[in-house]
Order: sequence, then structure tokens, then C-alpha cells
Amino acid sequence: MSPSLSEIVLPAVNRDDLAAKMRAFYADADAAIAAYRPICRNRGECCRFATFGHKLYVSSVELVYFVRHARSAWREPGESSDCPCQIDGLCAARPYRPLGCRVFFCDPEAREWQGPEYERRLLELRQIGADFGVDYRYVEWLSAMRELTDAIRSKNRGFDGIDAPSPDMIK
Ligand code: SF4
Ligand code: SF4
Repeated sequence: MSPSLSEIVLPAVNRDDLAAKMRAFYADADAAIAAYRPICRNRGECCRFATFGHKLYVSSVELVYFVRHARSAWREPGESSDCPCQIDGLCAARPYRPLGCRVFFCDPEAREWQGPEYERRLLELRQIGADFGVDYRYVEWLSAMRELTDAIRSKNRGFDGIDAPSPDMIK
């Protein structure tokens, strides 16, 4: 049976080498995206998924990096279709937000480069997973967060001893 998302993600959370690789990956992606000079009024409409009419997808290595950094302020998605990381219109997870958040701009001028840039970076993420032994998954953000929240809550899923978010950190 193939491992669940949480079985893939949580054991890799404390890997410093993977975290360093992901940090470098995001820095490179951010620099490339900034070079396109996209316009964002930064009001966070696109983080309210149902209202905005789109979904965010994320790869497994990004979830590893996200959990690593978000664990001290883990936010449960609940029933809302808004990203739980958005607080007062701002992203509380900005340094470790997924690639999709970094690439997306509603600016029509961005359409030309967004798709190719995203596809290219996704291949890099797949390769990082292969290099570090993290199975590739590409999953919808809120459902991934819900699964990880459930796994963190569960005491008998083999996460004891792993410095993932503790149940009492879930907000
Ligand atoms: S990309 Fe567009 S919708 Fe999203 S925060 Fe920026 S201006 Fe708002
Ligand atoms: S992680 Fe941040 S940027 Fe991405 S959808 Fe959530 S609030 Fe928005």
C-alpha cells in the first residue's frame, strides 16, 4: 500500500539538508518571479479560494518545508474555504508559503510567464523529492492541511519523537 501524505511528509520535517535545499529553491524562484515585475495590490483576495474561484495545489516537499516552519503556529483549516494562514488580509506563512502562492498574480500581464514558470519549478520540486527520498504527491492545499492536522492530532500514527506540530499548537 502506498504511504499516506502524512506518512510521507512528517518524517521528513526535521531534515536540515532538505530544508536548506528548499530555502534555496524558493529564493531562486522568488528572484525569477520578481524579475517579471508582476503587480499585486496585496489584499489577499486570491487566498479566499472559493470567493476567488480557484484552488491551490502543493507538492510533498513543499509541505515538509511548510510544516517545519509553521509548526509553532499551526492553523487548522476547518470548514472554511479560505486559507487558514491568511490573517487580517495578510499571509502569516509568507516565508514558507507554497510555490503556487508565489507564482500566482491576478495581473493579466502575468499570464504569459506564469504557466511555464510554474511547470518548470514543479519539475524541480519533483526532482528535489527524488533526491531526498520524499515521494512525490501533488495535492490540494486545504485537504492536505486537513489531513496533516488529523495526523498531528493522532497519537498513534508513529509521529512521536518527530518534532512536528503538537496537538496543543493547533489553533
Ligand atoms: S494577486 Fe491579485 S488577488 Fe492576489 S493579493 Fe495580489 S492583487 Fe489581490
Ligand atoms: S499560504 Fe499565504 S499566500 Fe498562500 S494562500 Fe495561504 S495566506 Fe495566501
